[in-house]
Amino acid sequence: MKVKLTVEKARERVAKFGQKIANSNLILGTWGNISCRMLDEEQVVITPSGVSYECMRPTMPVVVDMDGEVLEGELKPSSEVKVHLAVYAARNDLNGIVHTHSPYASALAVSGTPIPPMLEDMAALIGGEVPVAEYAIAGSDQLAENTVKTLGDKNAVLLANHGVVGVGRDVEEAYNVCLMVERCAQIYVLTKLIGNTNTLSPEDVDTLRDFYLTKYGQR
Ligand code: 13P
Ligand code: ZN
Repeated sequence: MKVKLTVEKARERVAKFGQKIANSNLILGTWGNISCRMLDEEQVVITPSGVSYECMRPTMPVVVDMDGEVLEGELKPSSEVKVHLAVYAARNDLNGIVHTHSPYASALAVSGTPIPPMLEDMAALIGGEVPVAEYAIAGSDQLAENTVKTLGDKNAVLLANHGVVGVGRDVEEAYNVCLMVERCAQIYVLTKLIGNTNTLSPEDVDTLRDFYLTKYGQR
């Protein structure tokens, strides 16, 4: 599902999901960031740093190369650009990344608790557990390194004492991964209060993920 986008279209998509995230419970204020990789894989379009999502216009996302050099745009790119670029460099299968600070997922990130595979839609979209990357300060090379290492070939990771990184084949999928992580974090906390969490077996997770990737929906 690689999507061929012009810079203009990529900026429109990043701005569109900026508008969506403004009305979600995934972020507070200007935190979080969204990026989209161009199909030629040499350029990334990313939200500008510290700009209100409500005000996000298609002209605002910044175009950077894979070293983080700004190629187009008036504004400063997200302070988490290193995380985005490092994840794209490690994963050819991804073209969208969304970073959020959603509350239940952040609670688990603070307590260092991974989310086990426990719901069928989670297994399909995320493909298993959501692990916790070791703490490193926001914007650092170390945070980029820890994120890549812990994400591995999964689709979501909690950043210790910080938030969530969700990835996907396009921005929409990465956004849905972040919604799913928050929903699962909430449900996991509830099951802990109830006192019991039944998880899915690795075989069932693989079957659900495979079905999602190869057969689910209209083809
Ligand atoms: P930016 O506003 O620079 O994208 O940073 C927000 C954030 O989430 C930092 O971790
Ligand atoms: Zn952040």
